[in-house]
Amino acid sequence: MSHAEWQPKPHQTPEPRHVRPGPRIPTMLGRGLRKKCPACGQGGLFRRWFTISERCPRCGLKFERIEGHWIGAIGMNTIVTFATLLLLLIVGLVVLLNSEVSRWAVTVFLMIVAVTVPPLIDPFTRTFWTAIDLSMRPLEAHEVDWTVVDPSFVPPIDGNTGDGDALTSEALPNEDQ
Ligand SMILES: [Zn+2]
Repeated sequence: MSHAEWQPKPHQTPEPRHVRPGPRIPTMLGRGLRKKCPACGQGGLFRRWFTISERCPRCGLKFERIEGHWIGAIGMNTIVTFATLLLLLIVGLVVLLNSEVSRWAVTVFLMIVAVTVPPLIDPFTRTFWTAIDLSMRPLEAHEVDWTVVDPSFVPPIDGNTGDGDALTSEALPNEDQ
């Protein structure tokens, strides 16, 4: 065997550049918000309210993609809870200033919200966070059953598919000079 024949091979991408592994990002986020598998849309992923299956029963996606994955879901939960509390706090202040409602009633209401919202939204934040994770780190070939997960088409960003708008030629830098 001659070493001289060996040549470095060009980097080969598994898919054409206009095909992204996995569904479109808005599709995945929408599925995540509805407590469904972001990759294939399968529902019924939770055995109990707080207990998500290890893998999607349809496409096989392992939801805990890396160790520490669920920390992101806890972060999502915290952000949504605090945003809700802030909004209700503002509403509560407006109500306090304009009515005879006691401040204790508003305080107790906000405390009930603070305690009940995190567990209520927990499953949704898990699937939604998984969707965000998949948006940032696309599916890899071994992660799912590709007969039930369709790759998505991504329009090329160089504008070649446009129907001849005025931007195309003049906006591009001229590299000849
Ligand atoms: Zn799935």
